[in-house]
Parts: sequence; C-alpha cells; structure tokens
Amino acid sequence: MSSRLSFLKWIFALFILAALGIAVFQKQVTRFIITKAIDQRMQENTMASLPDGLHIAMCGTGSPFPDKLRAESCTLIIAGQEMYLIDVGDNSSRNIALMRFATANINAVLITHYHSDHIDGIGQLMTQRWASSGSSESLPIYGPKGLEEITSGVMKSYALDRVYRHNHHGEETIHDNGFGLKPMAFNLADGQDILELIKTPDLSISAIRVDHQPVDPSVGYLIRYKDRSVLVSGDTKPSTVVAKYAKDVDVLVHEGLSPELMQMLKLGALKAGRDKLGKIFSDVIDYHSAPEDVAKVAQDAHAKYLLFTHIAPPLAAPGSEKIFLGKSKEIYSGPIKVAVDGDFISLPSGSQQVKVSNAF
Ligand SMILES: [Zn+2]
Ligand SMILES: [Zn+2]
Repeated sequence: MSSRLSFLKWIFALFILAALGIAVFQKQVTRFIITKAIDQRMQENTMASLPDGLHIAMCGTGSPFPDKLRAESCTLIIAGQEMYLIDVGDNSSRNIALMRFATANINAVLITHYHSDHIDGIGQLMTQRWASSGSSESLPIYGPKGLEEITSGVMKSYALDRVYRHNHHGEETIHDNGFGLKPMAFNLADGQDILELIKTPDLSISAIRVDHQPVDPSVGYLIRYKDRSVLVSGDTKPSTVVAKYAKDVDVLVHEGLSPELMQMLKLGALKAGRDKLGKIFSDVIDYHSAPEDVAKVAQDAHAKYLLFTHIAPPLAAPGSEKIFLGKSKEIYSGPIKVAVDGDFISLPSGSQQVKVSNAF
C-alpha cells in the first residue's frame, strides 16, 4: 500500500514538473514554431511547385452579397510561369496571398467590366504589388472602354500613400516609377465578338463580348496555354458568344445566380416593407445567368468541366446548393462544381487531367 502511495506521489510530482516546464518553455516553443513557419513562407515558391500547364486559382467566387465563403470577383490564371488576374474584387489580394501566390508576380490584370464587385480591390492590389515587387514599371491592366477613368481615379486616390511609402522606404527599396497602373484599353468593334490581347508561342488570351446589358461593354476571357484552355464568362446572361468560344474548353468558369433564391429574398424584403431593396433583388435577375441555363451552354459547347463562380445569393442554408443548381446535373453531363474561395483547378499540359483541390 505504501509503495503504491509513493508511486502516485512520484507521478504527481512529474506532472507538476511537466506543467511548470511547459509554462517556462512555452514562449520558446512558440518562437521556434513561428521562426520555422516564417522560414518556410519566405522560401516557398508555389509557382515552381506546379506542373507545367494552365491553373485556375479562385481568389473570389462571390458577388456584392456578404458571404463568409466567397469574396468578390477574382480569378487568378497561371499559364506556365506567368500569372494573369481576371477581375479584382474586394479581398482579392488577401485571398491570393492566402493561396500562397505573390501579387508581386502578376504579369497583368484583365477586367471584365466596371461594376464595383469587379474593381473594388484594384487599389489594394496595385499598392501591394508596387511595394513588394521592386518593379520599376506600372502594372499593366487590360479592360474595355472606360478603363482610363478607373485607373486614373484609383491612382489619384492613392497618390498620398505613394508619397508616404516612397519617402519612408526610399527609392532604392521601392521605385517610384513602379507605382500605379498602365491602362491597356481595348475596343470590340460593332459585330466583333472576340479580340486577342496577349499572344506568345504558348499562350493566347482573348476578350470575348458577353451580354450584361445595360453594362456595355462587358467581356469574358478565353485563355489557351499549350493544349489546355479555360473560358471565364465574366458577368453575363446566357450567351451564344460564350457557347461559341467555350467549345471543347477544359474548364468553363461561369457566373451563376439563382432566380428562385433571389425571388425568396425579394419576397422577404417586400414583407419587411423594404420595397426598393426588393426591386433591386428582382432587377439583377435579368442580367445574370440561371445555373440551369449555364448547364445548357456548357452542354452545347461540350465544355469538359463546369465551375460556377460569382455565386449569388450566398448559399448559407444547408442544402441551398441543390436549390441553386436545380436540374443542372441532368442538363450537363460533365462534372460541376460550385466554387468557394481557395478552389484550385490544375490542368497539366500534355494530359487530360483536371485536378481539383482547395488551397485554403
Ligand atoms: Zn456585373
Ligand atoms: Zn458582378
């Protein structure tokens, strides 16, 4: 009995010593973990770890609605070792960094149209890229007519910040010439539905006309890299132009809005006496695409994978994705995914593979 008692005393003493040790060394252990994590982040090169091919990083899959899973529009295209960003909604820079890509390495930005949820994050992206890249050239940004109005306005609103940061860090650290945006506006002539903007031996990026009336011009982008392809619809009604150029693409990244869920929101707003809000919920239905209509476009085009983005309204309730999709899975025979932020689609060149993961 006494030996059992002394054994328990020893266990208790060891327990107290371990607890004291943890308390004393906790900060050292935490510092060690932080240092290791910093070393790993500083040395990692996500681009170098990717196979050669075309990759789609979904850095914003929502709409102007507040949504915990989905920031405003942002689609990062990685073609070989180049990065092109399609639309820059609020939180784009944050999500790109959370997906372990560097805004400093973005080759160019491509804007689909000038609704706020597609441009809200331009200033933040522009500043982060300037301060972190060490580049002495402004960031090229492509967009349809109206682009200069946006870029000059954004640059003007960050003019003071430009001075603060340049004075603080010095010309040898961040180059004043590297500040800002270099607008590359383009124009689709009447009757013209496609315009190639970037062309290298392995890469082609074209703007295609879409239908987001009364927002005009409004475009989507078709990207081909070696033997792989992606079409990003931008905001549009179901479009014959999208169907035409999505022919046989590896991935169709298409916007989707549920008329049924929007109708429920409208009724809720009217019930609460918020008539103007109810009208807005009703108005937006006519210049977006119902998922079942998108499924038809994808099926007609023989697109190999359908990725819904610009999800509206938020799919907060369990099972609401099923209501959002409706009969889409009966209409389109390929795989369908309703994107969330962090989704990463990898299309290695020289293969038919579509690898889907989430980088968050
Ligand atoms: Zn829009
Ligand atoms: Zn939008």
